[in-house]
Amino acid sequence: MYKLFQGLEDFGFDDLKGQDLDLFSENKNEEEVTKNSVNLDDYIFLKSFVCPVCEREFSERVVKKSKLRILSHDTDLKPVFENIIPAIYDVIHCTNCGYTALTKFFDKIVGTRAELIRQKVTPDFKPKEYPSITLSLDDGIERHKLALYNALVKKAKSDEKAFICMKLAWLYRDKSDKINELLFISAACQGLVASIDSRHPTVCDMDKNTVRFLIACFYKSLGNSQEAYKWLLPLISSKTLHHQTRQRVMDLKYEIQQEKQELEPKKEVQAEEASSKPKISFRERILGVAKD
Ligand SMILES: [Zn+2]
Repeated sequence: MYKLFQGLEDFGFDDLKGQDLDLFSENKNEEEVTKNSVNLDDYIFLKSFVCPVCEREFSERVVKKSKLRILSHDTDLKPVFENIIPAIYDVIHCTNCGYTALTKFFDKIVGTRAELIRQKVTPDFKPKEYPSITLSLDDGIERHKLALYNALVKKAKSDEKAFICMKLAWLYRDKSDKINELLFISAACQGLVASIDSRHPTVCDMDKNTVRFLIACFYKSLGNSQEAYKWLLPLISSKTLHHQTRQRVMDLKYEIQQEKQELEPKKEVQAEEASSKPKISFRERILGVAKD
């Protein structure tokens, strides 16, 4: 920064080296102050729940919905909120017996499935203390994984497991962990494909066109544009889509077409240089792991 002020010696400013010459430090500090002034405790409160598995009362963190403000949505509809990642808190975890589920599924457990939790989760469960009412991204991820394990044990339907996997993929996106994001996108995609043919008109409270759109987004993220386009096609020709959904569908169609055009010349070059060695792509490796 000192060099920016060279040449002012004639004005008497020949000894600026000791001074704070960071032109933009004030702005940075202002941003820091704004950031630090957000107290996440203001967004969270403790609420009492009665566990449907052990029937004991416990407290859980709940986000004040009235304080949430959506800034934007990612292509696959993941909402981005101001100041907070509310998805971190979208799990209810009984600290007595270990039963854990996403908020929307917590009470929806019948007797035989609750018995499975008592038999296969509770005996091994060790309660974990969290130091504060606010949770970190890693805390949110581990609690979602616990919900996924509970869903597996209680033999939950594919849509519940798919929804948890989608939430985990999004949390890993917030953490900028691409490998784990794709791992869970792959699992969510498999689960949604398995769920969409059910007679129920919705999947995890989402209408089936929304689910088709998500599947298309997930296939695109996994590098399978052909499959993505296949799921997008009925939406492109649909006459009943909401204006906003139609715009998202057309945006995704454009992205897939752009990607295809960018890949075509590379494919031609690769074909010329093709060696006898079969190559496994990064995304195929991820898909392989998810199938295991
Ligand atoms: Zn319990």
